[in-house]
Parts: sequence; structure tokens; C-alpha cells
Amino acid sequence: MTRETSCQKCVALWREYQSATREHVALLKEQEHVAGVETLRFVELEPLIELAAAKRDAARFGIRVHLAAEHYDAPHVMTA
Ligand SMILES: [Zn+2]
Repeated sequence: MTRETSCQKCVALWREYQSATREHVALLKEQEHVAGVETLRFVELEPLIELAAAKRDAARFGIRVHLAAEHYDAPHVMTA
């Protein structure tokens, strides 16, 4: 029914989501690493993490919109 694996747009969107997730996780790990040790770096990381989280959300939203538009007949089910 769905054609995710053969859809180039899906492949690109998932790749984007994966890279955004990796970036977000890497920043979170770094922040955890410097917590209680390098306060300045910890604070510096805050906006970067927020930005990475927003990028990840945007990528996820892009996938949802694409799936609703291209792969499902009933877009009204994709409201979340
Ligand atoms: Zn697709």
C-alpha cells in the first residue's frame, strides 16, 4: 500500500531526520559530559540544543506532511 522504500523523497526525508537526530543526540551527550564540570560550555550548548531539537521537529513534520500528501489517501488522519 505504501511505497516508502521506493520513494526518493522519503529516502531523502528520512536521511535528513536521521542526521538531525544524530546532531541533537551528540549535543545532548556533550552537554551531559560537561554538566557540573564546564558550566560555560553547558550554557553555550543550550541554544544549540534548542536549535537542533527544532530542526529535528521540522524534519519529522516534513515526513508527516509528505506521507499525508503522497502516501495516504486520507490526510485527515495525520493531524498530530
Ligand atoms: Zn515518499
